[in-house]
Formats: sequence, C-alpha cells, structure tokens
Amino acid sequence: MPAPVFDLTGFCAELTIVPELPEVETVRRGLNRLTLHQPIQAGSVLLDRAVAHPESADAFLKALQGLQIKTWKRRGKYLLAALSRAETPSQPQGWLGVHLRMTGQLLWVQQTTPVQGHTRVRLWFQDDRELRFVDQRTFGRLWWVPPARPVETVITGLRRLGPEPFSAAFSPTYLRSALEKRQRAIKTALLDQAIVAGLGNIYADETLFLSGIHPTRLCCDLQPHQVEILHQNIQNVLRSAINQGGTSFSNFLQVSGVNGNYGGIAWVYDRKGQPCRVCQTPIERLRLVGRSAHFCPYCQS
Ligand SMILES: [Zn+2]
Repeated sequence: MPAPVFDLTGFCAELTIVPELPEVETVRRGLNRLTLHQPIQAGSVLLDRAVAHPESADAFLKALQGLQIKTWKRRGKYLLAALSRAETPSQPQGWLGVHLRMTGQLLWVQQTTPVQGHTRVRLWFQDDRELRFVDQRTFGRLWWVPPARPVETVITGLRRLGPEPFSAAFSPTYLRSALEKRQRAIKTALLDQAIVAGLGNIYADETLFLSGIHPTRLCCDLQPHQVEILHQNIQNVLRSAINQGGTSFSNFLQVSGVNGNYGGIAWVYDRKGQPCRVCQTPIERLRLVGRSAHFCPYCQS
C-alpha cells in the first residue's frame, strides 16, 4: 500500500491524544504549504454527519467545486480555509472549516491511495491530489460557510472562544479578571475555551507544573503574581510546542513525530509514577471533571 504523500496529522494516529493548539497550528502550516491555489474539482462524503454545514453532503461538495484555497487560518482549534476562484482571486467565496476534535486526521494523498477505514470526506484537487479527512471516533466536523455569512453564524463554536493565547487581548490583566472570584479548579479553568482558546489537557498540565500550581487550586485563591507566572507559562509552553512541531515539520517525513507529547519531554503529562524531573517525587494523576490531571505533589501546591 503506497504511503500517504503527506500525513498532516500523524501525531494523533496511534495515540489517544487530542490535538491542541500547537498540533492544529502545525497542521495549518502544513496545509498552507501543500494545498493552496489548486481548484477543488470534486469530492466524496462517506459519512454524512462529518459535514456540519450545509445540511446535505451534495450541497457541500457542489459549493466547493471549482474553488481554491487562498490561505488557511486558525482560531482556537478550528482550521479555516479562505476560499476564492482562480479567475477572481480577490473576491471571497466563503470558508471551509475543519475541527479535528478527538481523532480527526487530514491526509494529503494521491487519489489512488487506497481508502482506509474511517475515511469520512475526500476532496479531489488537480494532479491526482486529494485532501482526505479520516476520523475514527467521528467527532470531527467540516463546514462550508457561504461568502455572505459571518463565519461564526455557521460555525457557532467560534462564538464561545476566548482570546487567542498570543493575542494582545490575552494579557495578564485579562487573565486575572477571568480567574478572580471563580470558585473552580484552575486546571478546569485552563481547559475552558471561553477563557483562553486552544489550551487542552497536555499543555494545561505542563503549564501548571512550570508555574508550581496544583491543578485543584481554586482560581480565586491565586495571588496576582501567580497569575502573571501562569500567563507567561501558557505562552512559553505553547510557543515551545509550536516550535517543536515546526522543527519536525521542516523534515518532511518526520511530521508524525509531532505526537502531542511535547517532543517527548513532558514534565508531568502522562508520567504517572515516574520521578519528577525536578525533585524525583513520583508524578501523580487525579480525575478532575472527567479529565485526568498530572502533577508533582511536591513542586505544585
Ligand atoms: Zn517535583
């Protein structure tokens, strides 16, 4: 069986790891390198519910036919392709939205590549190329947003997103006001996409370790200087993971090395029972609102 030309999301193929902001950002950069300025000729939807809008898969494919992608943007964990026509490139033709959710993968393959199980949507480009959406758990979604409609009226999840972690809106002052007075665990707050967009389980655990903050600590109990440290570490951890992805990405074949485990150097994530890299105390894991949290009981309080 011929290998994919390019597996954009190989990091989550063999792991039960949900793509977070750095992984989605890495995928976005890959898509921008491979898929731009080539008309979509046709396609096939193998699982109707993978397409969230329009209601029919036929309408989805019909809308995309003849359009090309000008650029891929990212908002939180949403991928958004700005569409246009080759003849009128400056005239927007709406958006193609993708959310990978738990197990979604985008493959850039030859159309002749055998269709693997869990293939949900196929978009055919020129030169026998294909953007293939594969999704084992089937939570991933694609949208076509017509040009006349604001994106968030179709992809409604966008409305609930808080600021991007690298935007000016995500300031220490903003984070302080978002957390103070809240009687909830800080780990749960960091996973709340309305507070900051794109942070998930891995990088929240890593951020809290680097900040010396226990995951069950209540937001309202954090001191202002701790929130400043937290803010800094959110950005540092994400930037470092994006750079890791970027590094792997420059080596074409190693994109599957972007496996969401933070380049294999996680401080606490998925390290239960292993010695803390700072103090040697075994890393612990607890359940918090249905999610696991990994922490060092000595370094974090
Ligand atoms: Zn420790």
